[in-house]
Amino acid sequence: MTTIDSKIPQGELKDKWTNYKNHQKLVNPANKRKLDVIVVGTGLAGASAAASLGALGFNVLNFCIQDSPRRAHSIAAQGGINAAKNYQNDGDSVYRLFYDTIKGGDYRAREANVYRLAEVSNSIIDQCVAQGVPFAREYGGLLDNRSFGGAQVSRTFYAKGQTGQQLLLGAYSALSREVNRGSVKLYTRYEMLDVVIIEGRARGIIARNLVTGQIERFFGHAVVLGTGGYGNTFFLSTNAMGSNGSAAIQVYKKGAYFANPCYAQIHPTCIPVHGDIQSKLTLMSESLRNDGRIWVPKKKEDAEALQKGRKTANDIPDEDRDFYLERRYPAFGNLVPRDVASRAAKERCDAGFGVNNTGLAVFLDFKYAIQRLGKDVVAARYGNLFQMYEKITDQNPYETPMMIYPAIHYTMGGLWVDYELQTSIKGLFAIGEANFSDHGANRLGASALMQGLADGYFVLPYTIQNYLADQIQVPRMSTDLPEFQAAEKEVNDKIAKLMSIKGKRSVDSIHKELGLVMWDFVGMARTKESLETAMNKIKALKKEFWSNVFIPGEANSLNTELEKALRLSDFLEIGYLMAIDAYNREESCGGHFRSEYQTEEGEALRQDDKFSYVACWHYQGEDKDPELLKEPLDYEFTERKTRNYKE
Ligand SMILES: Cc1cc2nc3c(=O)[nH]c(=O)nc-3n(C[C@H](O)[C@H](O)[C@H](O)COP(=O)(O)OP(=O)(O)OC[C@H]3O[C@@H](n4cnc5c(N)ncnc54)[C@H](O)[C@@H]3O)c2cc1C
Repeated sequence: MTTIDSKIPQGELKDKWTNYKNHQKLVNPANKRKLDVIVVGTGLAGASAAASLGALGFNVLNFCIQDSPRRAHSIAAQGGINAAKNYQNDGDSVYRLFYDTIKGGDYRAREANVYRLAEVSNSIIDQCVAQGVPFAREYGGLLDNRSFGGAQVSRTFYAKGQTGQQLLLGAYSALSREVNRGSVKLYTRYEMLDVVIIEGRARGIIARNLVTGQIERFFGHAVVLGTGGYGNTFFLSTNAMGSNGSAAIQVYKKGAYFANPCYAQIHPTCIPVHGDIQSKLTLMSESLRNDGRIWVPKKKEDAEALQKGRKTANDIPDEDRDFYLERRYPAFGNLVPRDVASRAAKERCDAGFGVNNTGLAVFLDFKYAIQRLGKDVVAARYGNLFQMYEKITDQNPYETPMMIYPAIHYTMGGLWVDYELQTSIKGLFAIGEANFSDHGANRLGASALMQGLADGYFVLPYTIQNYLADQIQVPRMSTDLPEFQAAEKEVNDKIAKLMSIKGKRSVDSIHKELGLVMWDFVGMARTKESLETAMNKIKALKKEFWSNVFIPGEANSLNTELEKALRLSDFLEIGYLMAIDAYNREESCGGHFRSEYQTEEGEALRQDDKFSYVACWHYQGEDKDPELLKEPLDYEFTERKTRNYKE
């Protein structure tokens, strides 16, 4: 039986990372120049890793789909990045950030990884400040903080509502320096379509030049994937249109384990869906929950009047408003974690108290914050988010409450990695949202940026050396080797097959159908029956795709429909993996809510005795169900409890 070795170092929690660094193997400067590292992705994880590895002296090849690294999806991040600096003197510490993250993830993450994340969080802020990232400051010049869900301290550093953009500009400037020095070569508008494995180790990739359509081969002594998450499986999500899970599926099919695919985050504060020809959903940052109060009417007749347009929010007096998060979770109020807030919104809407003409929305109200702080202060904190909301909905949130509803936003599942961020394929590493990460079954707000940059700036540059130190005798390999030829042939055959179908359905029409299956049957609440239905529907949809999709144009030139089709072929695989994983996990934890497993109060009911493990799915071949391997999760340093945000 395969055992999973997570390579967690021995010792006390607080000493593990220090001990690891003290004893790991290093590569000397002369040898670094001889080693090629492929980094796929230029988001916060990929760009920070490529820049750091280049600065160390490795020869880095860095790929991205977009025309500039700066357009990676990370640019969209709004609200902020966590760190345990305790600048507010409000009781924060490395341990508390670790504990909040473990608890927020509903005790389904590795303690050692999460502690390391909290430990390096402070270095990230120093690094970014040194790069010139314009974090918000208080009047006296000190860095400002705000609060995000699942924490009772203010530890979130931010740059207005554009934190991701500013952090990415910082990483991009570090990357540009290395490009200029010649240690990093950038390949923009290139899409990785397969990994090349030679004698059990990742040794390169096959990529398509998206402008010319040409398929090209690239060698690397190691390959790093920072290719982001797979939330777009749902078609409608808050992710960038180009976000995809393809690289993860390519390497999964070559033997890398896919971990916890069912852990997907549904974010409570998104602008509600407004029609069936929509292709994108917009997030309203969690930071808004610092000052905005969430409510629905107490009386059903008011909800109905609001749905029919006979009343507006301002017609409902305060005493008839149900601030249901404050009512249910007095200790954390509007700042409960995302999974809890999303389910609570669904519960109210399902019970008939939702607003908007669909009944599928709740209010996020700034009336009280404006009364307390004044409009200017609210505008200074959230002005650009308010403007974005108004542009999309044509409603002024200073005068009438925003309407929000949960939407798919982030994926905690992803490629399984050990403590060194190495997948189950030697020499293949995964960082950022692409790995199954440190967030367990639910990610706390402002922790994705922290994890992506921790991986790229402060973890991978150490751990990858432990692997590369054994590779210094391996000469650069020719891309004419049979393994490269075979991988390229597989890619060409797949493209030729897709182009030859010439069916009747557009890629988007099939993707939309997949999205609906995912939302209806693998969404915020899942049951055994709904998951069986989903698996059957996805299998049928996969057949439909491979027999009836239509891709116009040619393969050997710019062809965005072909790009989308390739990605959809992989989303169909991921959708199935998500469903089978959710089916297997007969418990509720974090973002994974099986309706059969809930407390009397409707909270998630874990089954620690049966499911305290990382589910690692191992590919077994086309049209066969994957094998489930389990990495047990031991809680040595924390006591597992039922999450409580009430007291
Ligand atoms: C609207 C929004 C707001 C958010 N706000 C916050 C926030 O305030 N705080 C927070 O902590 N988190 C936030 N998040 C989450 C966070 O932004 C992401 O988790 C994080 O940025 C992911 O970074 P990444 O580097 O792992 O991947 P990405 O930024 O998604 O980058 C992926 C990279 O991989 C490349 N790529 C992908 N596939 C291929 C391929 N096959 N070949 C070549 N290149 C490929 C892409 O071109 C891109 O460069 C937010 C997310 C959204 C959607």
